Amino acid sequence: MGTEKRIYFFEEGSKDMKDLLGGKGANLAEMTRLGLPVPPGFTITTKVCKEYLESGSLPKGLEEEIREAMAELEKRIGRKFGDAEKPLLVSVRSGAPISMPGMMDTVLNLGLNDESVEGLAQESGNPTFAYDSYRRFIQMFSDVVQGLDLHEFEKILKQVKKEEGVQYDKDLSADALKRLVDEYKKLYEKLKREPFLQDPWEQLFATVEAVFRSWNNERAIEYRKHEGIPDDLGTAVNVQVMVFGNLGENSATGVAFTRNPSSGEKMLYGEFLPQAQGEDVVAGIRTPLPVDELKKLMPDAHAKLVRTAELLEKHYRDMQDIEFTIMDGKFYILQTRSGKRTGVAAVKIAHDMVQEGLITKEEAIMRLTARDIENCLFPTILWIDEKKARYYGIDPEKLEQYLAEGKSISEIIQLERPTSTIAPLMGTGLAAGPGAATGIAVFESKKAAEMARNQNLPIILIRPETSPDDFPGMAASQGILTLRGGATSHAAIVSRQIGKTCIVGASDKSGLKIKKKDGTYLLQSAGGKYEVKEGDWITLDGYNGRVFPLRLPIVRRTELPSELNTILEWADSFAKLYVRANADKPSDTELALRFGAKGIGLARTEHQFFETERQPIMKKMIMARTTEERKKYLDKLLKFQIEDFKGLFKVLKEYPAIIRLIDPPLHEFLPREIELLEKIYKENLGPESEEYQVLQRVRELQEANPMLGLRGVRLGLLYPEIIEMQVRAIIIAAIEVQKEERFKVKPEIMIPLVISAEEFREARKIVDETARQIFQETGDTVEYKVGTMIEVPRAALVAGKIAAGEEGAEFFSFGTNDLHQMTLGFSRDDVGKFLPLYLDKKLLPVDPFVGIDEEGVGRLMKICVKEGRAARSDISIGICGEAGGNPQAIDFCHRIGLDYVSASPYRVPVARLAAAQARLRHSG
Ligand code: ADP
Ligand code: MG
Ligand code: MG
Repeated sequence: MGTEKRIYFFEEGSKDMKDLLGGKGANLAEMTRLGLPVPPGFTITTKVCKEYLESGSLPKGLEEEIREAMAELEKRIGRKFGDAEKPLLVSVRSGAPISMPGMMDTVLNLGLNDESVEGLAQESGNPTFAYDSYRRFIQMFSDVVQGLDLHEFEKILKQVKKEEGVQYDKDLSADALKRLVDEYKKLYEKLKREPFLQDPWEQLFATVEAVFRSWNNERAIEYRKHEGIPDDLGTAVNVQVMVFGNLGENSATGVAFTRNPSSGEKMLYGEFLPQAQGEDVVAGIRTPLPVDELKKLMPDAHAKLVRTAELLEKHYRDMQDIEFTIMDGKFYILQTRSGKRTGVAAVKIAHDMVQEGLITKEEAIMRLTARDIENCLFPTILWIDEKKARYYGIDPEKLEQYLAEGKSISEIIQLERPTSTIAPLMGTGLAAGPGAATGIAVFESKKAAEMARNQNLPIILIRPETSPDDFPGMAASQGILTLRGGATSHAAIVSRQIGKTCIVGASDKSGLKIKKKDGTYLLQSAGGKYEVKEGDWITLDGYNGRVFPLRLPIVRRTELPSELNTILEWADSFAKLYVRANADKPSDTELALRFGAKGIGLARTEHQFFETERQPIMKKMIMARTTEERKKYLDKLLKFQIEDFKGLFKVLKEYPAIIRLIDPPLHEFLPREIELLEKIYKENLGPESEEYQVLQRVRELQEANPMLGLRGVRLGLLYPEIIEMQVRAIIIAAIEVQKEERFKVKPEIMIPLVISAEEFREARKIVDETARQIFQETGDTVEYKVGTMIEVPRAALVAGKIAAGEEGAEFFSFGTNDLHQMTLGFSRDDVGKFLPLYLDKKLLPVDPFVGIDEEGVGRLMKICVKEGRAARSDISIGICGEAGGNPQAIDFCHRIGLDYVSASPYRVPVARLAAAQARLRHSG
């Protein structure tokens, strides 16, 4: 205690000290070492923050240490803190180990009071600048340190601007600013019941404390939850000498990215505001100028910026997001960090940096996240001609339904022959976040969050601009539209990070307005031709910033962008696991292959029976009371099944397909008892009616615990004719396709829900016997495998026996859903009541229906892999089910030595990345 170093001057730190100095502090230190023009300062460590949060007060002796550090700063720049003539002013800046843009607080111009503001005015000969700095300080201090209502201050600012007849803050005269300062102080006194704090040391200590405190403000907590950032990191505090972008026409403040954060294109991409300070650019107060303009206005500073950006990108070997300020023509750098970017940009930047020789392929792969990949596959509007906004005029709901049925876009267009329609354009803004989004217009963040939660509606949040308080509403929405602000505004930064479609600055760009009419908000186009009221549909095209006042049909992407394709090919070359897809239909299979799947890991045949034309036959089959009768209907289903499998095999070519024999309880194919009863009762139907008969059968088939009842292989053993039909269909389809197409079809027949070696062999006998018969009948053969799904804990425990010998299983596939249900004794359909509590209290390490419970279920899996491989060395083992697309689960599968994971088609690219990352992470 007491001996620990609590304060580091910038020259004492480095970029590798993020945990202690926070990201901002560590990078300020690094840039100082690189000799870049960073205003001097020091960092109070995150450790101090943790101490503060524990004890509730600043640690003893800290104030003294801060005083000493300040004395050192005074010495260096020859000004005095609190001096009436030449005051030293500082900023007090938060900075956590992991960047949380705008979530915590910063105060600028600290050290000003009624006296020193006069000194500053005298010294600079610029009272406008001095009073502008003071009013900013009062406002920030009141907000950040005292928690006073910021809106009250803004109201006054608005009022003064109105009285002065000016539009922007920067146009206020010195006298007006003086008056503003007086009004601010009055308001402060009214709200706080004490005059505005004049002692600079008290200002400083109170602000340091407030920044520490801001670690636990509501929006920071919310953000950490959303981003999975631990709550115990704490924030550092940076105290830094001020430089002023608001000093006059030859001063400015700005933000820039070393590459375009939306598209990834290599260019200096940024914005600045002349005569402004700090947050003005991000807050969207005025729409900033593009950085190219700086070249004309302040060529020297521009050249410095360009050089600095290049140097930083090379040094950090990543795209940087930098903050700069120009004071009287002189360039200063105030922050650098890895820039947040859209998934599309992340992929392009990773790809390009490999081509440029800046990073390795391995690094490129490790830098990407599942969310980046998902981003690249964000939806688009169903355009015919994107430029002219001509789209397929299909009812979006109908479209959704078709897509849910697994129809491809071309099939849907064939079926519906939709008209070609021009979408009315109500305005444009700057495209800031990826994809297209359609939803209900909502104008308040709180309401957006509530509606998304309670009514499960897709929401488009429309705001004049956003601030960190809007975060929950933004996170809950499909898309965000703002009227003001540029590509580095809060809305743009956050939406890029969390992957939301976003358009900003739509008022500046095309005059869109928010109005209030009869108590409801509405969005109005310039000239008033179009209006979108709260509750109306609206569509955002985040690819080019267009806003449409209606619901447009939206589809997901069906191709990988070429850079992503290349990166995933690299990924495949590193990965040990390969990726299959869960697909039951040719269209899904096609998509999965396009996304890089190497076969089907799970085709659920029962899905094929849900098709409308088959349902009546299926129902009759189930209703059948004799084997004869059942076989009659199975024969009819056979024809359909042959076509189903041929469809899959044709698309797959030589890739393997695991086809699971029918799994769910039979009564799931019949109507529900209550519906039947209702109908019988309402229509007064007698015992001879069909409904009555069905009701009886439903009752016979009903089980108290269907998940533990007559399903899976048990069903097939009770009614072998069902297995026979399905196997017959698979083998015949394989033989026919093999003949027609001249490639080797690779069917793999999977027996579900097996519990013992004996049971598996019993089922396998039916499979082999059926195949043998067909080979005899047709004179053709096809190679096939028989394996099982590992879903019951017992199966994992006796895996060695199940795999052993000639008649043993040739492959295993973990059905993670059932395996978790049965191992934990949780029914997936009933966990809703208690699982949230379990996760909240950490009674379980992971959500068992999202990832893998490594400790419990994982242990079973390990036993299964070990004993399965010992019994049959060439056994193929994989996993299917939801967890197959989950990066943590995939990492586990890699570690226990599985051969493949199988995921739904849209998760295939994510799974490919995760498989490579697992390999790279664990290979030294
Ligand atoms: P955030 O983490 O929200 O970006 P910062 O601490 O970076 O907060 O500060 C907010 C704004 O104030 C930034 O634009 C930053 O560049 C500016 N700023 C911070 N410190 C100084 C300083 N010493 N001189 C001039 N501007 C500063
Ligand atoms: Mg801030
Ligand atoms: Mg910053």
